[in-house]
Amino acid sequence: MTTTIQKTMKGLWSLIVGLKVTGKEFCRPWITVHYPRQEVTNLDTFRGHIDLVPVLDDPEKPLCIVCRRCEEVCPSGCIRIEGHVPGEEKEVPVRQLLLVSNISLPHSAAREPICATDKTLRVLDGFSLNYNLCSLCGLCVQSCPVSSLTFSSDVYLAGASRKDFEFDLLQRLIDRAGSTKLKKAA
Ligand code: SF4
Ligand code: SF4
Repeated sequence: MTTTIQKTMKGLWSLIVGLKVTGKEFCRPWITVHYPRQEVTNLDTFRGHIDLVPVLDDPEKPLCIVCRRCEEVCPSGCIRIEGHVPGEEKEVPVRQLLLVSNISLPHSAAREPICATDKTLRVLDGFSLNYNLCSLCGLCVQSCPVSSLTFSSDVYLAGASRKDFEFDLLQRLIDRAGSTKLKKAA
């Protein structure tokens, strides 16, 4: 009899403790949102897929100087870059072009967007990212000598197939510039 009462009391106490925790959490401010009716805004530290950074005064033009350092350093092989030297055929394999090894602009020292120089030797024709393979290690962003790469805040990325995560980052940059222009015109 005593054991049954003890068990019941123990069970009740456990219930009270559980309700106490529930009550406490119930009264706390929400830290989640009712998506899709609401969306999160505190994305400062969110790290989405990589994106190209535009030149300050020309949002359609990437800062990228086609040095291919990001492509070389990516451990997952998700980046493919196409570029050419002005005046030369676009078909010239970029790997034969001048590789930038002496640029003294470490990523950590150049976080702010910088203006592209008129001395750009190569033109970026394509920058594809296979996000299916990306581990978000950040090596490409860190190694870019001109801070032409950043992490997007594309938090609601969704797709129905792997193809949906193969991005043309140059086209994305151009599209972004277009939609910014439209917003300004509206
Ligand atoms: S974040 Fe890492 S894995 Fe992803 S593209 Fe850059 S280097 Fe490759
Ligand atoms: S490291 Fe930077 S500048 Fe070099 S190819 Fe990649 S994005 Fe362009």
